[in-house]
Amino acid sequence: MNKNKITRRHFLETTSIGAVSVMAVASIPAFGFHTQQTSRLAILGGQPVRIKPFHVWPVWDKADEDAILPVLRSGVWSRSGVVKEAEEKFAKLMGAKHCLLTTNGTHALITSLHALGVGGGDEVITTPFTFVASVDSILLNNALPVFVDIDPVTWQIDPDKIEERITENTTAIMPVHITCGVSNMDKINAIAKKYNLKVVEDACESHLAEWKHKKTGTLGDLGCFSLQNGKSITCGEGGAILGDDEQIMDLCYSFHNFGRPKGKYMSRDRGGHPILGTKCRMAEYQASILITQMDSAEEEAKRRSENADYLTEKIEEIPGIVPIKGYEEITRTAYYYYGFRYKKEHFNDYPRDKFIKALVAEGIPTSGGLGAIEGEPMHKEGLIEEALNSKTFQKIYSKERLDAYRRQLVCPECDQLVEESVGFHSNVLLGTRQDMDDIYNAILKIYENRDKLI
Ligand SMILES: *Cc1c(COP(=O)(O)O)cnc(C)c1O
Repeated sequence: MNKNKITRRHFLETTSIGAVSVMAVASIPAFGFHTQQTSRLAILGGQPVRIKPFHVWPVWDKADEDAILPVLRSGVWSRSGVVKEAEEKFAKLMGAKHCLLTTNGTHALITSLHALGVGGGDEVITTPFTFVASVDSILLNNALPVFVDIDPVTWQIDPDKIEERITENTTAIMPVHITCGVSNMDKINAIAKKYNLKVVEDACESHLAEWKHKKTGTLGDLGCFSLQNGKSITCGEGGAILGDDEQIMDLCYSFHNFGRPKGKYMSRDRGGHPILGTKCRMAEYQASILITQMDSAEEEAKRRSENADYLTEKIEEIPGIVPIKGYEEITRTAYYYYGFRYKKEHFNDYPRDKFIKALVAEGIPTSGGLGAIEGEPMHKEGLIEEALNSKTFQKIYSKERLDAYRRQLVCPECDQLVEESVGFHSNVLLGTRQDMDDIYNAILKIYENRDKLI
């Protein structure tokens, strides 16, 4: 932290509310109030900082429309050449040898774990601070998700706590590059190598993020993406698997296509369906949207990053606001969600959920926890116990093993983060500097009026 920032934070913490107001007023748009001090919080009946909506997401133009019409008119809507073209383009964009597109990110994860041999009796190490689909994909392969607590600074799985959780049953690690971070892939890959584990990256939130100039999703054995409506590259619903190993990718393909043979490694003399499979193929019109959407991805990611950097620099000076900090090795941050911690002790002990309501009232579309998803951190979610009590798990795992598993579902750092995290969906980052100023001004306004909050 440079000297300026320390001085400014100190200034904010120690000066009177009036003095801060004068300083802040220059950047506050006129909504009928003259200083922060006299402006009443919107949640208490005052004028909101902003009434204008933020940038919309997703964004499309004539290029998307022009591309999809011929696909529609061709009558070929299920997987064919357009999906193949999109796979090649996605692989190239990310720097992977192969790409398989799927119906969604969840099935990309399920397929990847299955293809790498994860199954009943296995343990897969992952983070509790993730979207439910990461955990679903492990349980649906009949394996146990072993939750390693998070690193409180980066919000990612704590790489230094992974090794102590490895057992003879551990077969894979699933780092999840969550929110706007990247997991510590050097440490994770080193551990995987040492214990001969597979690594499946859940990159469903980290499109175009980079670790030492390599894109997330290309850093482990397989990398999975979501292309769902809210994600930074989208075609409404969709998923992608990236990998460099042709044989494993053929297995993924076969599994995603009813177990039909694929590639040179698979036996052709065991009928038309030599392996078990499911079906989660992407459709042609989805792929068409994906192809044109990829053209704007770089520019959009750049804009999000510039706005995020600007916003971070401003809001981290407000006491009690602590943005996520990424590892040094991250050469490019991707923003699916912009996250920071809210330390209520700096806000007159005003609860996080009420702070969110106050920000929403000021016109800032804010949410807590893991974003739009209300709920518990994954080690406390109901689906875990439900899975453990299922017929399948009861037959695969001994009572002793399940009891021992239950006892280790403890992640205090994650629990605290889920109570303190606040953020916005990345659509707000696609706007202007003025949009960022509005966010900053709204948070500052709440901070300055903290004595009026109960
Ligand atoms: C969105 C998301 C998924 C699931 O992707 P879908 O395309 O919605 O199935 C998985 N993991 C994480 C971390 C996600 O954010």
